[in-house]
Amino acid sequence: MEIVSYDLNLDVDFAAAKVKGVVTLTIGRSEEPLTLDAVEMDVEAVRVNGEPWRSRFDRSKGKLRILRMPKGDSTVEIHYSKRVIDGTIFGLYKSKYDGNYMLVTDLEPAEARTVFPCKDDPAFKAVFNLRVVTDEHLKVISNSAAKSVEPAPGGRVLHVFNPSPRMSTYLFFMGIGDFEESKVSAGKTEIISASRPGTSKNAGFILGIAAQVLRDYERYFGIPYPLPKLHLIGLPEYHTGAMENWGAITAREPYVVIEKGASLSDIRHASFVMTHEIAHMWFGDLVTMKWWDDLWLNESFAAFMEHKMLNRAHPNWDIWRDFLLSENFPSMNADSLAGTHPIQVKVGTVNEIQQVFDAISYGKGASILRMMEAYVGEAAFRKGVNAYLRRFRYSNARGEDLWKSIAKSSGKPVSRVMGAWVKQKGFPVVKVSTKGKGSELSQSRFLVNGKESKGTWPIPLTYQSEGKLRSLLFDRKALIIKGTRPSSLLLNPGRTGFYATLYEEEAYNAIARRFHTLHPHDKAGIISDLWLFLQAGMVKPETYFRFLSLCGRFAEAIVVETASGQLASLRAIADEAQPVKRAYGDFFLPLAATIGLAPKQGEDPNLGTAREALMTQVVQVNEEFAARLSERFARFDEVEPDLRQAVATAYAVVNGGSAYEPMVRRLKTASEVDRAKLYAALTASTDQAVVEKTLDLTIGGQVSRSDSGYTIVGASNNPLARKTTWDWIVRRYDEVKGIYGGAQQFYLYLDRAVPRCGLGRAGEVKSFISGRRFDEGKLTFQRTFERLEVNTRLRERLLSA
Ligand SMILES: [Zn+2]
Repeated sequence: MEIVSYDLNLDVDFAAAKVKGVVTLTIGRSEEPLTLDAVEMDVEAVRVNGEPWRSRFDRSKGKLRILRMPKGDSTVEIHYSKRVIDGTIFGLYKSKYDGNYMLVTDLEPAEARTVFPCKDDPAFKAVFNLRVVTDEHLKVISNSAAKSVEPAPGGRVLHVFNPSPRMSTYLFFMGIGDFEESKVSAGKTEIISASRPGTSKNAGFILGIAAQVLRDYERYFGIPYPLPKLHLIGLPEYHTGAMENWGAITAREPYVVIEKGASLSDIRHASFVMTHEIAHMWFGDLVTMKWWDDLWLNESFAAFMEHKMLNRAHPNWDIWRDFLLSENFPSMNADSLAGTHPIQVKVGTVNEIQQVFDAISYGKGASILRMMEAYVGEAAFRKGVNAYLRRFRYSNARGEDLWKSIAKSSGKPVSRVMGAWVKQKGFPVVKVSTKGKGSELSQSRFLVNGKESKGTWPIPLTYQSEGKLRSLLFDRKALIIKGTRPSSLLLNPGRTGFYATLYEEEAYNAIARRFHTLHPHDKAGIISDLWLFLQAGMVKPETYFRFLSLCGRFAEAIVVETASGQLASLRAIADEAQPVKRAYGDFFLPLAATIGLAPKQGEDPNLGTAREALMTQVVQVNEEFAARLSERFARFDEVEPDLRQAVATAYAVVNGGSAYEPMVRRLKTASEVDRAKLYAALTASTDQAVVEKTLDLTIGGQVSRSDSGYTIVGASNNPLARKTTWDWIVRRYDEVKGIYGGAQQFYLYLDRAVPRCGLGRAGEVKSFISGRRFDEGKLTFQRTFERLEVNTRLRERLLSA
C-alpha cells in the first residue's frame, strides 16, 4: 500500500484552540481493512471514493479502521475535530508567552496521529497539501511556502500552501500565531526567522550561520536543498532543543534569537543546534530511516555533520573540542552502564521509540561515524555518503545501506566494522601492559560497575610512539607491539576512537611527566578515561586526583571544561569527601587565578566558555570569591555574558533566602539565556526554601513551562538540595510529567536528577518509581537506577579515601 498524498483542510478557531478538519488521503493499492492512526480526536464522518461510508468504520485503541475498502487506488475523506489541551508542550500545543500563545506542532516520533488521521510510520512518505482557514491577523507557517492567502467567509483568511516534498508524517509542521519574521537569502533559498514580536532584530546571527551552512551542505552532499524557503522558528515554550520539520525547523527561542546577554557558550550552542537541524534536511528528511530502530542514523549523522560543517564556517572555534565535550565523553559515560543499549536497537511501541532518543543514539553514533571517517579517509567517506543520499532520496533506508555505500567507495570492510559497533552494546577498554621489552594491548568490554566483561570490537586503533603515528585494525582479544614499552605509548591520539585506554601505574607516571607536551584534546581524553576508571574502581583515587590537579595547570578550554565538569559532579555526589575538598584547592583555585575574571589581551577567544564554567563552580566553593562577585548582581545587565552565571550564583549563595525576590523579579523579564543562568543560580542556593520555590515556579505557568528542565537539573547539582529535590519530584511528579505530555524529555530530566538526589534513599526511589509509573519510562529508569548505584559506590569509596 502507498499513501500518495494528504489533502488537509483545517479550520482553526485560534482563540478556542479548536480544529475542524477534513483530510483526504489518496491511496494506492489499499490494504483491507485500512488501518490509520488517530488519537485525541473525534472522527465524525468517512467517505470512500466520494461515497458516505457510514457504519463501515470503527475506532479502538488509537486506530481508525475503515472496512470493506475497495481494491486498487482510492480516496478516503475523513471529517474530524479536535481540541488542543492546555497542559502540555508536545503534539499540537500552545506555546505561551506574555498572556498570548502560538499554536504549533511538534510531532516526532508519533504525535502526527493526534493532529490528523494518518499512517503514522516513517516508511509511509506522502505529499502534504495544506489549506488552513483562521483569523485574519494571524500568520500561518508550514513546511512549504504559501501559494496564496485569500479572504474566507466570516472575515477570516484561507492560507493555501504549495505541496510539500514527499516526506514522513513526523516531519509535518503547522504553526499559527503572531510571528515576526526576518529574512536572508542563501543562493536560491530564502531563510526566514520567525519568533515572537519584538525579537526578530536579534535573529541576524543565526540567519547568517544558517545561510552559510545550508550552502556548505549543498556543496558537501552534492544535492541542492529542494524548497524555496527554510523557516527557523523560535518558540517560547518548547520541550526539547529543536526539531527538523522539513522547511520549518522549530527550536527553543534562544537558538534562533541571540539576546544581548548571550555568552560565547550560548552563541556556540545555538549555532550547533541550527547546524544540526539543517543537516537533517538531507539526513532524516530527504532520506529517512525505514523504522525507528535506525533513528540513530539520522541523529548520529546530524550530530557528526554539525561539527564538520561548523568547523568550515568557524575554523577558529576548535570545533572538535565541542564534539568531545558534548558527544564523545558523555556518550562513553552513558554507554558504560550494564543497562545500555546497542546503537541499533529493536523498537516496537511508541514508548520504546522515545526511549532511544538518548546519548547513545546521538553521541555514540556520531563518535562511531567520526571513527569511521578517520578509518576510510574524508574523500571516500563523503563519496559513500553522497551515493547513498542520491540512491535513497525521497525514500527510506537502513544503516546497512550506508555501510555498503561507504564500503564500496573506500574498499575497506566497513560493513563488518560498523555492524559490530552498532549491534554490540557498550565499548571496549584497551589495557596496555608490559610484555618483555614491548607492550601487550588487550581489549574487553568496559563496565562502570567495575565487573569484568568479555567482548571484542574491530577497533580502528591509532597510537603514537616516539613521535610517529601508527594505525591498524585491532579486531582480536590481544596484540603485541614489539620494542615499545607502555610508558612511551599514547593510544587514541586526537580521540577519534570510541574506546578507553587503561595504562599501568608506571606508564601513568610517564604520562604525567610529559602531560604538558600533549595536545589539549589528549589531555582531556586522559582525564575523561580516568573519570570512567575512578567510577568503576579500576584506578586508585590518588591517580585520578593527581591528573585532575595536573589539569589545573593548563588554561586550555577543553581541559578546564572537562575537568571542572567532573569536579562539579564529584561535588554533587560526595562534597564532604576529603579528596574532593582538596581538589577544590588544587584545581579550581590555581586555575581561577590563572584565567582571571576578564579576558587578557591576546588570549584564546575560546577560553570564554571555560571561564564561564569554571567561575560558576568556584563561587560555590570559595566564600571570598563569591562575596566579591555577588556585588556585581546589582548591575546584572552590565555584567559580561561569560560571567553572568557566576555572578548570579554568587549572589544566590551569599544571600540565601533574601536572594529569591530580587532574582525572581529579574527572571520575569529576562531572556531565556539569562533565565537559564538565574535558575542555575537559584537552585544552587544553600537555603532549601529557595530551591523549592524555584522548582515550583517553573511548573506554575507564570514563566515558560519548558524552564522546568533548568531547575530540575540545577537542583540536582546542589549537594545540599538532595532531600528537597527528591521530595519535590515525589510531590509534583504527575504535574511535571503532564507538561511533557509523555515525551522522553521528562525521563531524561529525571535521569539527570535522580542518581544524585536519590543518594542515601535508593530504596525509596526505586519503590516510588517502580510502583505505578515504571512502564512508560522503563528502559530509561533502569539506567537511572544503575547510575544511582554507581554514584552510591563512588561516594562510599571517596568518603573512605
Ligand atoms: Zn537531530
